[in-house]
Amino acid sequence: MRIESLLVHGAVDGDELTGAVNVPIYQTSTYKQEELGKNKGFEYSRTGNPTRDALEKTIALLEKGIGGLAFSSGMAAITAILSLFSSGDKIIIPSNLYGGTFRVIDKVFKNFNIHYEIVDFSRITDVKRLLENDKENARIKAVLIETPTNPLMDITDIEEISKLTKEYDVLTIVDNTFMSPYLQRPLEFGADIVVHSATKYLGGHSNVVAGLIAVKDKELMEKLHFIQNSTGGVLGPFDSFILLQGIKTLGVRLDRHNANAEKIAEFLGKSEYVTKIYYPGLKNSKGYEIHKKQASGFGGIISFVINEKIDYKKFLGSLKLITLGESLGGVESLICHPASMTHASIPYEIRQEVGIVDNLVRLSVGIENIDDLLEDLSNAFKESLV
Ligand code: PLP
Repeated sequence: MRIESLLVHGAVDGDELTGAVNVPIYQTSTYKQEELGKNKGFEYSRTGNPTRDALEKTIALLEKGIGGLAFSSGMAAITAILSLFSSGDKIIIPSNLYGGTFRVIDKVFKNFNIHYEIVDFSRITDVKRLLENDKENARIKAVLIETPTNPLMDITDIEEISKLTKEYDVLTIVDNTFMSPYLQRPLEFGADIVVHSATKYLGGHSNVVAGLIAVKDKELMEKLHFIQNSTGGVLGPFDSFILLQGIKTLGVRLDRHNANAEKIAEFLGKSEYVTKIYYPGLKNSKGYEIHKKQASGFGGIISFVINEKIDYKKFLGSLKLITLGESLGGVESLICHPASMTHASIPYEIRQEVGIVDNLVRLSVGIENIDDLLEDLSNAFKESLV
């Protein structure tokens, strides 16, 4: 079956008992046991719940993994992955990534003596050098990739990195939030773990906070399930249901996100108020060829730098249709100011160094009518001239 049909029908197609076309919400914490040690596969909902189970099987199916896990947020999912590591271990992270991911690595896991090294993944030789230098001690246990990165849309070659990490017995973890399995499936390129903030495109309606993981190795799946059950950051049955509903329309939504974003990138490219655009669909962008190789679309996120002719704060306040707010990937267009919102937890010096400057904005292009979106941007620019 092709991805569009897999999205609609999922791994568990409705309810066998009643014929309902949707998986029911099993709003229960526990299950009746027929006798000691005999049950119908579920004992307690932290360990397993049928609605969550349908979602977990669905993300595994979509990402071409052997198993999936659902968490109460993207950060809970990332925390579970980081819990695979022990004191003294090290992970390699990119020079710009989601602020919350950096924060949990830098402010929480560092306290458990788990270290990190920041690398520019466009320089594969730098990654190789790090792994080679670490060969004797084997402290590096994983490479964490976001591609495209949040918010600067850096592209990493998943296949190249995965090939390299295999040589050193190091895990490749890919945060696939910006693409979703509709556009990019990292496990097919050799990654070991895929993680999502399902709050974004997978949910798609800004009505749920959730995280998903898919893996392709049984042993890794068992370890992560053990961590999920032990630490308990599971997704509830109702939120699992909401996510299953969202996933059904992922394909049609992303087709529109892609189309709208391409037109907006074109518009921004011609604007006299924009100095830089970060969008993987630009033919002259650094990662264009790599992105085209590993993804089937450019997604709906565009970051751009507004020049001094515009008061960027006024611009953000002048938009009428595009909503100023955190998050992305919903049907409604959202705009945010990474330096003070999503990436405020990254120290100022690092933000400047990597390009998260104060006049950078990140637009999550929704599925509204494209002319309405273009008009909104145009009017807001006019209203905020310095
Ligand atoms: N990964 C990326 C790329 C994100 O953009 C986010 C949130 O914005 C997260 C992870 C964290 O997900 P959540 O907000 O669902 O905890």
